[in-house]
Amino acid sequence: MFNSLSDRLTATFKSLRGKGRLSEADIDGTVREIRRALLDADVAVPVVREFAAHVKERALGLEVSQSLNPGQQVVKIVNDELVRILGGETRRLNLAKTPPTVIMLAGLQGAGKTTLAGKLAKWLKAQGHTPLLVACDLQRPNAVKQLQINGQRAGVPVYAPHPGVSSEFESATGDPVAVARDGVAEARAKLHDVVIVDTAGRLGVDEEMMRQAADIRAAVNPDEVLFVIDAMIGQDAVNTAQAFNDGVNFTGVVLSKLDGDARGGAALSVASITGKPVMFASTGETLDDFEVFHPDRMASRILDMGDILTLIEQAEKSWDKGEAERMAKKFADREDFTLEDFLAQMQQIKKMGSLKKMLTMMPGAQVSRQQLEQFDERQIDRIEAIVRSMTMHERLAPKIINGSRRARIAKGSGVHVSEVNQMLERFGEAQKMMKRMAAGGGMPGMPGAPG
Ligand code: GDP
Repeated sequence: MFNSLSDRLTATFKSLRGKGRLSEADIDGTVREIRRALLDADVAVPVVREFAAHVKERALGLEVSQSLNPGQQVVKIVNDELVRILGGETRRLNLAKTPPTVIMLAGLQGAGKTTLAGKLAKWLKAQGHTPLLVACDLQRPNAVKQLQINGQRAGVPVYAPHPGVSSEFESATGDPVAVARDGVAEARAKLHDVVIVDTAGRLGVDEEMMRQAADIRAAVNPDEVLFVIDAMIGQDAVNTAQAFNDGVNFTGVVLSKLDGDARGGAALSVASITGKPVMFASTGETLDDFEVFHPDRMASRILDMGDILTLIEQAEKSWDKGEAERMAKKFADREDFTLEDFLAQMQQIKKMGSLKKMLTMMPGAQVSRQQLEQFDERQIDRIEAIVRSMTMHERLAPKIINGSRRARIAKGSGVHVSEVNQMLERFGEAQKMMKRMAAGGGMPGMPGAPG
């Protein structure tokens, strides 16, 4: 998502690279390019207009800076404006003072509400909450079943108007408002501290759906009403968001399907148009493809600065601290980086989830999109198989791996000798990089800002 917007903006900034000061013509040209890039990405017209006006005004008023050149200053301005249209500060969930906190989900059919319900439940549970899911989407065939499956995956119970659900608050099948009210009562009785109410959507905005959502809102008095919007739906996003804002007065936005490759700009406009912040992002079909939305990080991702913070957060979640410390010490001591370390590192990377996803978050300068598209996750498994076919002596002293050892390793791991050669070559590069990192004390090639 946002790839082409990102490419266009980065290209615009490149043209400012090396300029000592910006003329008014430079600024006009840059603002024009930015405006075009935003419009082509489907960002809503009024949002683009305001965005461009702000950038121009601030760029004209630029003071000579000690620390940033004009190109970098413009990048900073555009970054600030992106953060602003995305809602500014990261907005946390509003938890009720007296539990249960009630979170209601609203949006069109297919927006990703039911999927989000599972993701949100899993995420809350991991933080020590005891959520209950409530299935009020009685419209879409299978929606209740789907929520039950998601609940099971998340390890979170589901309240549903279903024969066999043991509850003293058994609701009449078919009345979503009653189900919602009973679901919240059930949560209160069973001491769940958060209730997530999944509601029905239609394919398009329609009055009856909106009335039902408004009735549910009135019945359960939610602490948060999250409007879920499919980031791929293009310009319609803005009208849909406005209709839901008028209809249910939501408190926050969730952008779903951000993993898709649509232009996505309309979704970027939703916060600005409705004045409600984007709070979460849904980035895939599994329950872990879910992130708290940080406007500043999204802006730097769009500007191809690499979303270092998200990356670090994910790494911290899965990184084995002891192992990381051992590695750090090893580099500090300038000991040789061995194949055994390489293997350990690969396992850490695998623990962090999809490598492809991680790579998209790294600063753009290091991996091209084309390389990414060609990247095959299974390659890691093959590399691992190769290393595992080596003796410990070989792993610790890779220099001894001669031709006959290579042939044996290839046979053992079921690959061609050329793959073993390639792998050893790559390892050699990694070894060099590690040495440089140890010497320089940081990651090589950090974000490529112009200038
Ligand atoms: P609902 O009608 O709003 O409840 O939508 P669903 O949760 O049923 O989602 C509709 C479809 O979109 C399902 O096939 C989901 O698997 C898929 N989906 C939901 N969220 C995402 C996402 O973030 N990324 C992708 N790629 N697919 C998603």
